[in-house]
Amino acid sequence: MSNNSVILPTLCVAPAQVIRGQGVLTTAVSAIAQLGQRPLLVGGDRTIATVYTLLHPGFQDHSLDAAQASYYPDCSETTLASLRQTAQSHQADVIIGLGGGKALDTSKLLAHQCGLPVVTVPTSAATCASWTALSNVYSEDGAFLYDVPLSQCPQLLVLDYDLIATAPQRTLVAGIGDAIAKWYEASVSSGQSQRTLLIGAVQQARVLRDILLQKSVAALQNPGSEDWQDVVDASVLLAGVIGGLGGAQCRTVAAHAVHNGLTHLIASHGTLHGEKVAYGILVQLRLEELVQGSQLAATARQQLLKFYAEIGLPQSLTDLGMATISIADLQQAATIACAESSDIHRLPFEVEPAQLMAAMVSTTAACRAAGKYEDIPAPNGGKRDTALFSLPPSKFCIDEVSE
Ligand SMILES: [Zn+2]
Repeated sequence: MSNNSVILPTLCVAPAQVIRGQGVLTTAVSAIAQLGQRPLLVGGDRTIATVYTLLHPGFQDHSLDAAQASYYPDCSETTLASLRQTAQSHQADVIIGLGGGKALDTSKLLAHQCGLPVVTVPTSAATCASWTALSNVYSEDGAFLYDVPLSQCPQLLVLDYDLIATAPQRTLVAGIGDAIAKWYEASVSSGQSQRTLLIGAVQQARVLRDILLQKSVAALQNPGSEDWQDVVDASVLLAGVIGGLGGAQCRTVAAHAVHNGLTHLIASHGTLHGEKVAYGILVQLRLEELVQGSQLAATARQQLLKFYAEIGLPQSLTDLGMATISIADLQQAATIACAESSDIHRLPFEVEPAQLMAAMVSTTAACRAAGKYEDIPAPNGGKRDTALFSLPPSKFCIDEVSE
């Protein structure tokens, strides 16, 4: 072997096992029993109470000795420290995460820290947290602090459609917002890559976007239908595949950076992760319009605005309930989103907080007509730089989507 051999990052592509279907939670206990005899259930109090009732008979049949703990108030360092103590005193040998993204992130990180296997049971389709080898850590007050790459994906993911169907419709809408972001972010961070798995990840993101654009309206009109299950699968499972296949090089860009900045404002806490991310996609596209003059981004934004209106995703700060935030607050969110370590810098151009603020307040701006740029006199009377208007073809395949 040569001295300059390169070790590529380890990939955590998928959970070892995925059990899915209607009412599968009770039958999944035998698979849980293969992983441990002393499970610690982690979730919100009400979720644990509901789900424990379903699991209890199975636990008895398999002689499992279960304990439960809340992740309240957030997936924070303090919560994790207290949960590690609970896991230790119960002598837990498997962690079962129940709930939405934050409950699952807490459970996965707890298991990682304790060196235990983890089972994820999503109770909504709001994120792909049940799939991924990544946890977001927040402050006690819910401000995003950092993410932690985990050594593996969950050992078992149990996707029970009956459980997901009991969640408010809004959580699925948010899940659609978080999942569709994969395309707009992965195509920017990895769209130019020639590496096999990255090409695969970006193409999966495109397929995911198309499924969501085609089936979301029907899914939301008919909960429990085949379209609904397809959209749940897209938001919870296929969205996870993209992060797994693409790995660290196929990460988030500006949409999630905007989300992360917004979480530092109390006014944003009434909205879900995927709702803020969905708004963040519009901000990212708007940035590409404002900074690069990208006509393609402008068209993609108009397409998304129409889609958001159909399914109820927020298009603006007003829709996020943040119509009256101060300039200082907006500046704070923009400054955090533009921090040196922020994924916003994966954009192919530099972004200043002032530019980001301009984009954040103009996500619903009308699309400039295609020829309009030509009206601006070119510098030195020379020909305009047409490169300004052309993006690499792989970036936004808007041509493939019917309006
Ligand atoms: Zn997300």
